[in-house]
Amino acid sequence: MNKITLFLLFLLTSLVCFGQSPRQIFQETINETDLRKHLSYIASDELGGRDTGSEGQKKAADYITNHLIALGISPIVKNQDGKMGYEQSIELYKNGWKDSYVVINGKKKVFFNDYFPVGMINIPVEKEIETVFIGYGIQNETTNDFHKKDLKGKAVIFIENEAKNKNGKYISSNADNSDWVGSSGLKKKQKIAADLGADYIFVISLADSDQFKTLNAERKAVLSRFNRMAIEKSKTDNSTANTTLPTFIISKKMASEMLGINQKKLDAFVESPSETLKTKKSTIKIKSERGEETVQTSNVMGFLEGTDKKDEVVIISAHYDHVGIDEKGRIYNGADDDGSGTCALLELAEAYSKAKAAGNGPRRSILFLWVTGEEKGLLGSKYYTDINPIIPLDKTVCDLNIDMIGRIDKKHETNENYVYLIGSDKLSSELHNISENVNKETINFDLDYEFNDPKDPNRFYYRSDHYNFAKNKIPVIFYFTGVHEDYHKPGDDVEKILFSKYSKITQLVFATSWELANRNDRIIVDSNKP
Ligand SMILES: [Zn+2]
Repeated sequence: MNKITLFLLFLLTSLVCFGQSPRQIFQETINETDLRKHLSYIASDELGGRDTGSEGQKKAADYITNHLIALGISPIVKNQDGKMGYEQSIELYKNGWKDSYVVINGKKKVFFNDYFPVGMINIPVEKEIETVFIGYGIQNETTNDFHKKDLKGKAVIFIENEAKNKNGKYISSNADNSDWVGSSGLKKKQKIAADLGADYIFVISLADSDQFKTLNAERKAVLSRFNRMAIEKSKTDNSTANTTLPTFIISKKMASEMLGINQKKLDAFVESPSETLKTKKSTIKIKSERGEETVQTSNVMGFLEGTDKKDEVVIISAHYDHVGIDEKGRIYNGADDDGSGTCALLELAEAYSKAKAAGNGPRRSILFLWVTGEEKGLLGSKYYTDINPIIPLDKTVCDLNIDMIGRIDKKHETNENYVYLIGSDKLSSELHNISENVNKETINFDLDYEFNDPKDPNRFYYRSDHYNFAKNKIPVIFYFTGVHEDYHKPGDDVEKILFSKYSKITQLVFATSWELANRNDRIIVDSNKP
């Protein structure tokens, strides 16, 4: 027996004796302290909620990149200058308002400040237009504000709702109710103006200046939800977006400038509209252009080359964007969503780089993939799979995707040792079995398959980045601990993360990926479950 054999025998017995396989050794490098350190930065206010394409998201990308460099994990993206890098840059198209203003007497009024639109109004080319004031814009048996007014081709200005008389009753009906208030009242007024040939409507808001500020912010937030981001330029023509008469809500201040009167006179008229209000005829300019702008963002990735099966790749993914800051200035830190997945990947990369440095690198390669634009419709993962898969999809063994693993949901309030698995059996029964066995041998959590049920109304299988792999017949597992009261709220903060369970689930992902990367045969795609 030579010395080397003796040494190997010693090594083997010591492994058996102490029970520590290389997998166990490196799995245990994943710990709460590191996760907390990373997440305290990723989910800090400094990153401003990591909105897609924002400065904060770029800071997160830099942090990930620096971590990969420090670990010695290879770049795999070829940049335009021919150099290798960690970021796959992506140009997204975002539709929204572009150049929008009203000019009164040479003074430009500010969109979503002095006034705001009702709906998605598109006036792509500046229009010059005459205005007509018609008081409250009421028309019935006793009152007719439209009488003898020429509205054809003009911008009609009226006050919202209806005034009340001294007895607190609505003037036109002398009753407690009026058909001319609220959104149905506005619709009636819009209809009459449209029938009389008006081109635009300006509604004078009765809100005071603070209330008007709030209204602007709320409308801006509501309407911006319709501003979609996409990978490709929109094919629809924005110039035909108007379906009703373009209507804007304006402040009393802006209204008095339009009418060429002192605001006090307007206030007096609002109170008692029976008095006549002498207004000046004015011509205004208006533009309210909708269109697309580009948003620069990137997927970040690091590559750990395998040994004898290096052409085959296991992907571990998480999205590193979140939803940013709301109209009230509140930062959505997204500690759980998906700061937890983002930082889990940082720890996984570290564990693998240590294994490789110790001569225990995996047989298959590992791609650590931080995707962008998840919150905007899984755009970063879609870009990766549909437009530029850095690793050919047929060489991609599976995608283990982590999205929210740091909290507990209502169902598991009494037991934090669980994780929802979604998708594991859909394409490969082998993957499902491996995942089950590895869990039993390692953290032994309750694996909850509630959301894997195709009848589950939440449809989570379609709602995170793994789906873009699954639709290409690449087996996936989605790791998830469920929604909670801070989901997509400003309270999704690092203080509420349960680091012990979070760390264990990260270890489970490590152990599962380790088996997938090291086993003799690549897992087989043999099922096609809905
Ligand atoms: Zn998420």
